[in-house]
Amino acid sequence: MKQFLYELAEQIKKDHPAWENLTVVFPNRRAVLYFRHHLSQLLEKPAFAPQLITIEELFARHSQVRVPDKLELVHRLYHIYGEVMKRTTTETFDQFYFWGEMLLRDFDEMDKYLVSAEQVFRDLSNQKEMDAAFEYLTEQQIEFLESFWGPFQANLTSNKKKFLDTWRHLPAVYREFRNSLSTENLAYDGMLQRTVAEGPLDQLVSGPVVFAGFNALTSAEEKLMTAYLTKGTGKVRWDVDSYYLNDTAQEAGVFFRQYQMHAVLGKTFPKDIPGNFSRPKNVSILGASQLVGQAKLMAQTVGELLAKGMIPEETLIVLPDEKMLLPVLHGLAVEVKTMNVTMGFPLASTPVFNLIEQLAELQVNQRESRFNQRHVLALLGHPYVLAADPVLASGRRKEIVENKKFTVPAEEMQIGPLLFGVIFQPISGQSIIGYLHDIMYALGGLPQLTALDKEYVLQFLKLINRLGEVWTVEEAAYNEFPPAKKEKEIWKSFLRLFRQLVRAQKIPFVGEPLSGLQVMGVLETRNLDFKNVFILSMNEGALPAGGHRSSYVPFTIRKAYQLPTTEHQDAMYAYLFYRILQRAENVYLFYNTETDVLGQGEKSRFLQQLLFESGWNIKHRVLQTAVQPTPLRAIEIPKDEFALQGLERLNEVTDSSKGISPSALNTYVQCSLRFYFRYIARIKELEEVDDDINARSFGLLLHHVMQKFYEGVVATNKNKIIEPSDLNHAETVIDKLINEYFIHLSGTKGEVVYEGQRLIVREVVMSFAEAILRHDKAYAPFTIEGLEKGGLTYYAKISHAPGQAVLSGTIDRLDLKDNVLRVIDYKTGGDKLEFSSIESLFDGEDKSRNKAVFQTFLYALLYRANHPVNGLQLIPGLLTRANLFEEELHFGFSMNKKPIGDMTPFVEQFESLLKRLLEELFNPEIPFRQTRNEKNCEYCPYRQICYRN
Ligand code: SF4
Repeated sequence: MKQFLYELAEQIKKDHPAWENLTVVFPNRRAVLYFRHHLSQLLEKPAFAPQLITIEELFARHSQVRVPDKLELVHRLYHIYGEVMKRTTTETFDQFYFWGEMLLRDFDEMDKYLVSAEQVFRDLSNQKEMDAAFEYLTEQQIEFLESFWGPFQANLTSNKKKFLDTWRHLPAVYREFRNSLSTENLAYDGMLQRTVAEGPLDQLVSGPVVFAGFNALTSAEEKLMTAYLTKGTGKVRWDVDSYYLNDTAQEAGVFFRQYQMHAVLGKTFPKDIPGNFSRPKNVSILGASQLVGQAKLMAQTVGELLAKGMIPEETLIVLPDEKMLLPVLHGLAVEVKTMNVTMGFPLASTPVFNLIEQLAELQVNQRESRFNQRHVLALLGHPYVLAADPVLASGRRKEIVENKKFTVPAEEMQIGPLLFGVIFQPISGQSIIGYLHDIMYALGGLPQLTALDKEYVLQFLKLINRLGEVWTVEEAAYNEFPPAKKEKEIWKSFLRLFRQLVRAQKIPFVGEPLSGLQVMGVLETRNLDFKNVFILSMNEGALPAGGHRSSYVPFTIRKAYQLPTTEHQDAMYAYLFYRILQRAENVYLFYNTETDVLGQGEKSRFLQQLLFESGWNIKHRVLQTAVQPTPLRAIEIPKDEFALQGLERLNEVTDSSKGISPSALNTYVQCSLRFYFRYIARIKELEEVDDDINARSFGLLLHHVMQKFYEGVVATNKNKIIEPSDLNHAETVIDKLINEYFIHLSGTKGEVVYEGQRLIVREVVMSFAEAILRHDKAYAPFTIEGLEKGGLTYYAKISHAPGQAVLSGTIDRLDLKDNVLRVIDYKTGGDKLEFSSIESLFDGEDKSRNKAVFQTFLYALLYRANHPVNGLQLIPGLLTRANLFEEELHFGFSMNKKPIGDMTPFVEQFESLLKRLLEELFNPEIPFRQTRNEKNCEYCPYRQICYRN
């Protein structure tokens, strides 16, 4: 197989033996590089190469203007647009950027296609204008224009009015924009090309000029090429194949067939058009599921072929979808030693982008030099911040979580490595660029970061510097905002602009261009040929690329003025696809067998065309991933030394621990494996501190408020008897207690603002506390026997080591009235007050087991074990949703619908079952097992470990 560029080199060597004067023009730099290489292969001795340039460089040789980067152009357009539209304060630069970029693209395209902007943006919304326009338009143009403007004459909705308002100003924007650029000797690409193409074209580059490998020419390119051909110094070498040129049904040949009809270009086509496409080839179409499936299958195929002697330099991998890049590089890393990647990696997919987003959150939500804990925690978990000092970052995280710090003072966070000091400084919107700049510098100096990470940082540093030259705070937020809001607006504005810029940026991979296996995007393959070609993502939406770029100029108007449409784009991609196959010998085309949820991403129509039209003998194979779910094995943890030690630790009575708590035992009954995870292995879910108190904290707050309330009453009365009058005006005290709690939680001294979740929690806790106090008032007088009473222990002899089990717990409240001792547990959940039997409380498989009864009975038992209750009626019960909001309070539980007026008759049975349970818990022969009652798994934090949903 001879490559197109090699053949071209041979031809040029033959036609232009003295080529010093010769200029060869290519569509892109990569083609120049490969051509130079082929030319050097043909030389017997060193020689100067001809002038090898791209078409952009040729245009530049005809002009003296400078083309600024897109950011500068859009920024200049922003000001012109504002002036023409007479906009004063409403649109910031970041808000304009998206539209500005789109408008710039439209202007660029109109200029490259030499279309009159005045005509395109002509307002044809009234019939007279339309009729006037018809005078110089073709029938087809009229048809397209009518289909767009027709509905404007019928009725004018507010959206249409808005559109018309902008539309009418666009010719002036176009004119003014170009004028302002011209005065400074600047231009955008299209403007430069148009100026050259519509200029006198009498100063052409001297010597012969060969245009090689062009397709889908813009009108300006066509005009320039024609000028050289007409002058007699130009030649054209088309990279074309008879397969799609001669078949009018093939969209790949659309542009060439148009050029064949061109008065000048038509003469440049040779009589014998090469027919490489129809030569025999080994073609395989391979289906695999998703990105990873394709990448793995491709890497495996490449690996096998390399082992059989395939030469990496003769091999090309084409990635129409840039998301494939990382899976492919990952897959190939094992199989290939050298490769060269000619496509960029999206900047938005790097950890630096994510870091900057987190920094913005940190600063936007900063108040009085205190940061919101959520943003501090997120940053402390970022890989780069962690890398700076993993021990300190983890320690800080732990400290914030454990101390439930709602906000964190900036100065506390600035201790540690330089990066911490730079990140955790409160800054104003004015200093954004400097702040990010300093962080990038600090990151660049981190020895823990890889070379690739540093490359990301460098690219961001460049972007931030560039933004610093263009972006101003004045254009981000106008002065009518109050200062605090303005600060926020500046950050928001910066982020909006930054995100738009980053999304369009790619990090170029630096490799050895001609050695090793080549990985490229579709556009980069122009004019190149490889013996072995692998193309991935052969699905609609990737190849051909789906959708169309946004534009001010609607489809019908584009059609009317022959501006590029999606059809143009499809024809261009069809050409690129057929072209890369035409000279290849071994072709492997991969597609994703799984369409997305909307049924999009089907197998590419290009594949269907090959299968049905090419005449090739194609092997088609779909990789079946044998879906054999691994049978789930029940998890069992034997009571080995670690587990037994853990049990012993839990059972110890020390200063900090007093034995097994009722909730731990309750967990054991529910699921012994969950007990193991939580209390033996101590696998905890990270407990995040919420901005505000969350639903889980309802209970905590209610307990706190009720405890403090009654402690206050007891202290004031100097005795434990509560009279109904003590509960007058209780709401005010409760309100104050709630306030104090929130102030303590937020770490601020000022007032608490009740909004969002915080407001809900306050209201709910208020309503529970008020209901409790209403019933208490009706029940009073009574005596408080204990509030959050701890230090109670219960010892049970067991036959296994260590010989006795120790239980301990804290009782929410104990009160006494007329011989009735109530053991009270406050609950804010939906706990029920009924149960079926004492046995059911110990049966974890029982779907209607009442955990709350089990736990409250244990509290009662604990009390009994520590205090004489002779002659007292002991009633364990809940104050909860189920009874608090009734007119009359029914305290205590019902077993089998019979209220339990005294627990004493059930104590013996309860203790005996408890002993049995504790025997089982300490029995080294009985492992910790998963519950068979999957209802218990519903809210279990270990569901993922157990594969239980
Ligand atoms: S998910 Fe179910 S089986 Fe697993 S630990 Fe939790 S409760 Fe036990």
